[in-house]
Amino acid sequence: MWSLQDFPRRTTLPELRAVPVTELPGVGPRIAAALKDLAIVSIADLVSHYPSRHEDLSNVKKISNLRVGERATVVGRVVGTKRLGRPVRGMAPGLSVQLYDGTGYIPATVWGRGWLLNQLVPDTWVVVAGEVQRKYGLQLTTKSIEVIDDPATVGDSAHAGRFVPVYPVSKGINARRMRTLVHRALEACGRILDPLPAVILAHHGLPHLHDAMHEIHFPSDRKRLKVATRRLVFHELFLIQTGLAARKARLEKTEAGRSHRGDGRLLTPFLASLPFGLTGAQERVIEEVLEGMRSEKPMRRLLQGDVGSGKSVVAVAALLSAVESGGQSAIMAPTEVLAEQHFIFISAALNDLPINIVLLTGSQSAAERRAALEEVKSGEAHVVVGTHALIQQGVEFENLSLVVVDEQHRFGVRQRAVFKEKGATPDTLVMTATPIPRTLSLTLYGDLEVSVLDELPPGRKAVTTRMVELSEREEAYEAVRAELEEGRQAYVICPLVEESEALEDVRAAEELFDELAEEIFPDRRVGLLHGRMKAAKKREVMAAFRAKEIEVLVATVVVEVGVDVPNASAIVIEDAERFGLSQLHQLRGRVCRGLHSPKCFLVGDPKTEDSLKRLEALCEHQDGFKLSEVDLAIRGEGTLFGSRQSGVPDLKVAKLLRDIEVLVEARRAAFELVAADPTLKEPEHRPLRREVRELLGADIEWLFKE
Ligand code: ADP
Ligand code: MG
Repeated sequence: MWSLQDFPRRTTLPELRAVPVTELPGVGPRIAAALKDLAIVSIADLVSHYPSRHEDLSNVKKISNLRVGERATVVGRVVGTKRLGRPVRGMAPGLSVQLYDGTGYIPATVWGRGWLLNQLVPDTWVVVAGEVQRKYGLQLTTKSIEVIDDPATVGDSAHAGRFVPVYPVSKGINARRMRTLVHRALEACGRILDPLPAVILAHHGLPHLHDAMHEIHFPSDRKRLKVATRRLVFHELFLIQTGLAARKARLEKTEAGRSHRGDGRLLTPFLASLPFGLTGAQERVIEEVLEGMRSEKPMRRLLQGDVGSGKSVVAVAALLSAVESGGQSAIMAPTEVLAEQHFIFISAALNDLPINIVLLTGSQSAAERRAALEEVKSGEAHVVVGTHALIQQGVEFENLSLVVVDEQHRFGVRQRAVFKEKGATPDTLVMTATPIPRTLSLTLYGDLEVSVLDELPPGRKAVTTRMVELSEREEAYEAVRAELEEGRQAYVICPLVEESEALEDVRAAEELFDELAEEIFPDRRVGLLHGRMKAAKKREVMAAFRAKEIEVLVATVVVEVGVDVPNASAIVIEDAERFGLSQLHQLRGRVCRGLHSPKCFLVGDPKTEDSLKRLEALCEHQDGFKLSEVDLAIRGEGTLFGSRQSGVPDLKVAKLLRDIEVLVEARRAAFELVAADPTLKEPEHRPLRREVRELLGADIEWLFKE
């Protein structure tokens, strides 16, 4: 570890990451522990603990010029003090200080700082910022008073005479202490060197990192604060994008892709067999995908399309095109139910075609699995449909040339690498129903090309979504009854949040099933589906639901994604407040696939403001993109990536909804830079390389190996 004493006057943030906060005067074990609660361990952490807002204490005035009602900062000498005994308006006891600044006298009432009394001896210089009020003459009411040595240096003080930073703080460390520490740290670290190349700064009109770091904490004025913030947002996004660009460049260079040139012998009859014509968006996206597959480079493409937009057709087109050119293709689904459904859909669609489709899931018997694995390995299997079982040990393909990953909102960089480790570099198509906004996908999937299915098949009706209090639950079920009488089907979802369904959740599902089957719909065929059921049983239930033998399906989130039964027109989600927004949108999507008018009932009793907001958003919006933005706004963006699984670090300053323009700019700049210097080996890119390495860590370790 470094210490501040032997610290050079020029440093970099990575160097400052090696200096513990305890090096700073005034940081003992107690403060260090409080800082640690805020994830501040090193000096670099401290100087990058950005203020959540600033208070404007820059209006420095002479006492004779003060006006009633204004907020002002006064620099004056203490003439006398007195303690204010009685706390007023719930504040801690304070004191009154008589000040003189050469132009006049004014008493300043300082709440909450009674302990300062001993320091405020006559003739001490102080800075006071507060509101000018009239009470038997003017007085200044304030919570902020600071003792200074020299009135000429007021603008340099951390606490007054300027824009003063307000920090996110924790127990054990107050705002003022935090400000002092950050100020001290900035002073101690000297000139902070900038890892961004000067040409990029110049081109994008960005200030130097050192200046931006100072200005974001202690801005000289509003304008510079804005410029500094933009600079740091750019900085953060640029580093991530540089990492992603470098990774992409490397993959393109080192991995031979495969040029798929299908002859249409499977694709044409498949498309002809569909009972509907493609939407314009489907046609366009299929062409984009096939084009990517034709290229020599490995394809890495993200397909975003809202729930029900018809992604499966695109997936099958891609799978078939790979088989036409002599490869094997695979599609991976997040649940067994969905994998089975794909298997059924693809098998039915390709019934008359000379093609062998194999299913691979975790719940198959050893014999089934062995047989499937054998066909996959020998190449007899043309299309392999499966769950995560596909990427487990022991799965070997003869000639895997395309992988489709369905409904994976969180299929990050790391998981994508898995197929590669299997030896080949197949083309990949990741499909998602957009619980990620476009902006986020640019960051999270920044090394992927993006296709968007932005059109729903014709004839879809808007879904009516209602929040239903527990006391009105009957009404929801009455409405469901009306749908059933029309010959439609319904889902009833009971809450369960994780995939690994706990026993008590299963019991809750069973109880709900009993209630529905015996009390609410005794005259209807009610079925039950949950994750703990045997695979064969699940298959049977789904088949019965598809065949309309089951009219009301009580299910857990095993039906969350992908399940496609167009005749289902109503969904009741019990304890809706327990689900996340994107989950609710997905669940509702189960009934938005036919030509009827779908209905969704959110039963529950939202206790927190956030859960209420989620349910209201759902009632108001249908569009998955819009909902994902609302979700982002409700949850805050900090932890959205889940850095561990995505391989992309959490954001500190950038706000994706606000900073989309900067993101696009940073992304373009990063990709241009990497195009010119793919491994960042030029001397002027070395500091950048080091930063990117620290930021993205093991995920791009290879970048530094050559
Ligand atoms: P998702 O994008 O949610 O995966 P699916 O691929 O499951 O959507 O399709 C949803 C429903 O829409 C299915 O019943 C499917 O048969 C139907 N569908 C897909 N494309 C079209 C189309 N072009 N015209 C009419 N219906 C379509
Ligand atoms: Mg789907």
